[in-house]
Amino acid sequence: MRTLHTVAELRAELRAARAEGRTIGLVPTMGAFHAGHVSLMERARAETDVVVVSLFVNPTQFGAGEDLAAYPRDEARDAEIAAAAGVDVLFAPPAEEVYPHGFQTTVAVGELAQPLEGAHRPGHFDGVATVVVKLLNMVGPDVAFFGQKDAQQALVVRRVVRDLDIPARIEVCPTVREPDGLAMSSRNAYLAPAERERAVALRRALDAAEQAVAAGERDAAAVATAARAAMEPYGVEPEYLALVAADTLAPVDRIEQEVLVALAARVGPARLIDNTILQTNGRP
Ligand code: AMP
Repeated sequence: MRTLHTVAELRAELRAARAEGRTIGLVPTMGAFHAGHVSLMERARAETDVVVVSLFVNPTQFGAGEDLAAYPRDEARDAEIAAAAGVDVLFAPPAEEVYPHGFQTTVAVGELAQPLEGAHRPGHFDGVATVVVKLLNMVGPDVAFFGQKDAQQALVVRRVVRDLDIPARIEVCPTVREPDGLAMSSRNAYLAPAERERAVALRRALDAAEQAVAAGERDAAAVATAARAAMEPYGVEPEYLALVAADTLAPVDRIEQEVLVALAARVGPARLIDNTILQTNGRP
């Protein structure tokens, strides 16, 4: 595996592969790798010839007062994990390489970026969209891989790629979880042991929503109430817990089409998110 830090080196490295007709896969990340990241790398390894993983803690997607400075960084450890997963190129640019002096162009996303995370993290998805477009332009992948863990991000990226005619296919991979159900996240590293135990509240809320629907409940407010109640024993309150259409993120009253349950909650110093798609299996 090669670790590269400039766009020029990256383009030079990929030129020959592209000329030989080899397909390129991109996995954009902010590092601090866990099994969720590795699942994306392995999927890229299985589906494309040259696997590029970008490692960039993107400052423009963090709001004032968020955890940009504290975000876990360990490039040497990440390089070992990526190499073991069969990654060909680890692209780890410094901030000046991505946002050179005088930078003043951003991608602004419409309705899909407004609810859920967008409502609680103003400007977040414009930062995400801008850096993803830049990474897609730098790498020129045939396929880019994202995680369902960040469901709204995946929808925003698909929309941006379609709206801006970027010739890459977007694949969304399932959420990888700890044995107790907690979604893997780089931010789980912020949790002290007692907080780590309480963090399972997010998954328990999603379990309760799934169980309510499996038992025949179709009223969205009732499902949300059941999900919130499941968090109470852990002393965790959702920042938001919403049932929305899985494709448009518009609020729903009934569980009829595909419904996404998305939530965010603070547990100690960590702000965690999770989601599930409710299955009615065609039953009314
Ligand atoms: P991040 O480094 O947190 O920006 O995540 C990089 C990519 O990994 C994003 O596409 C995430 O959605 C994805 N990802 C993060 N956590 C998980 C997880 N637990 N399971 C699957 N994918 C994940």
